[in-house]
Amino acid sequence: MLVQSQRSLFLRSGRVPMSMSFYLQIPRIPFRLFRSRVATSLALFLCLLLSACNDSSNSPPAGTGTGRTAIENVTVIDAVNGVRENRTVVFDGDEIVAVQAAGMGTNATQVIDGSGRYLIPGLWDFHVHLSYDERLTPVMPDLFLSWGITSVRDTGGLMEKMLPLVEAMRAPGAIAPRVFFAGPLLDGSVVVYDGNGRPEIGISVPTPEQARATVQELHDQGVDFIKIYEMTSPEVFAALVEKAQQLNLPIDSHVPLSLRASEAGPYVDSIEHLRNIEMDCAANAEELHQERLEILANPGQLSGAELRSMMHDLQRLPAVQNYDEEQCDRTIAAMADTMMVPTLRLNSLNLAPPYLKDDWEEALSRVPMAVREEWSRQASSRIAEGGGDTSFAEWSVFLTDRMHQAGVPIGAGTDTPINLSIPGYSLHSELEMLVRAGLSPLEALEAATLKPAEYFSVQDRMGSIDAGKQADLVLLDANPLEDIRNTKRISLVISKGVPVAR
Ligand SMILES: [Zn+2]
Repeated sequence: MLVQSQRSLFLRSGRVPMSMSFYLQIPRIPFRLFRSRVATSLALFLCLLLSACNDSSNSPPAGTGTGRTAIENVTVIDAVNGVRENRTVVFDGDEIVAVQAAGMGTNATQVIDGSGRYLIPGLWDFHVHLSYDERLTPVMPDLFLSWGITSVRDTGGLMEKMLPLVEAMRAPGAIAPRVFFAGPLLDGSVVVYDGNGRPEIGISVPTPEQARATVQELHDQGVDFIKIYEMTSPEVFAALVEKAQQLNLPIDSHVPLSLRASEAGPYVDSIEHLRNIEMDCAANAEELHQERLEILANPGQLSGAELRSMMHDLQRLPAVQNYDEEQCDRTIAAMADTMMVPTLRLNSLNLAPPYLKDDWEEALSRVPMAVREEWSRQASSRIAEGGGDTSFAEWSVFLTDRMHQAGVPIGAGTDTPINLSIPGYSLHSELEMLVRAGLSPLEALEAATLKPAEYFSVQDRMGSIDAGKQADLVLLDANPLEDIRNTKRISLVISKGVPVAR
């Protein structure tokens, strides 16, 4: 097995903490790109759409660095400190400067009454695709912020689309979430998201040489991590991992279909959607793996999307039915240090359909008309068809609980806008699903605050409400620990020290 023979390359030394400057939210876009007239116009266009052009009407005094703001007499809740009652949180521009007992002096020029309210750190959506649907791209930053999502991790988009977007979102004064991005899905000789019948967000990486060159190039263009996709061969997977580790880039992945989850899992930092783990949790995991290798030889010259669908259709439900606890315990143990982003709102959509929720229509009313109509039609036809088989949905909830209990770190991500995922709103559905799977409400908040910060080694400035941390905050009208759905009862969102209107 090639991956085993390459194990020495992979010695997991633990991620070296990256220097602060590496992740400072300043543009790291090569000037050669910025000089391109087309790219510049696009950046300006996006800048306008994102209200990113220093529009002073969108920038209350707290964000201008001219004064301090105090949120007084509030209950502060975060995953590091737990619950702190009767506090005053003071921030100055994009920095929290004090968390102190209510009633102490603050020198604040603006005061927000937090009585009877709850303050949590700004939330992350740890799995988004900003460039997936161009009808939504321009409104996604505003939607995220309005739902309290102050940071996003973009897990797949072509660089020519992502670079201007990231540039606009990181521009000084931009009213937009902090963004961490991977660039394209790094796929195999054939590519699943190749632009035929689905958006083009993947690229082909057919050889180890190209794998190393691609990771170097992405690194030089400023990506924050890389994303390995499902058609990758073991040789290319090994080269991608080796190069990314050399460059201190975190690695996100779907388990490649050429590998077993227990083989790939230990070498990557996060895995999405529990993808292809069901096949490694089956009693006949090795047999299923051999079957996939034969299909991957691709004698019929199928497209990437066809090949992948064939394997998922052939193996997913039988694997779930053939679940073996001992086998799965070994798989989970192999991934003890790999963050799982189960995207339960996606995997388990038919257990908790978003379109049956009370607030779905109102949330949907804020997305562009063309998308709204399309999604309403999809919702109607799903209702007409009925829920369908729920065994994979139930398995996903069950396995998230098993992994969480085994100590696997859990991250909260949605895959928005894929599959009826309203940007921002859907993260709250994911929090609900994580609690349904067995996480406590505080652990669900941790999955959307501290765990993402730890993933990028930025927990010294993000993920909790402490002096010295960045000023991303969400003020709630009700206690999220009593009911996780209270994260939607948003009174105010502070992004980079700036209160943003809903
Ligand atoms: Zn995705």
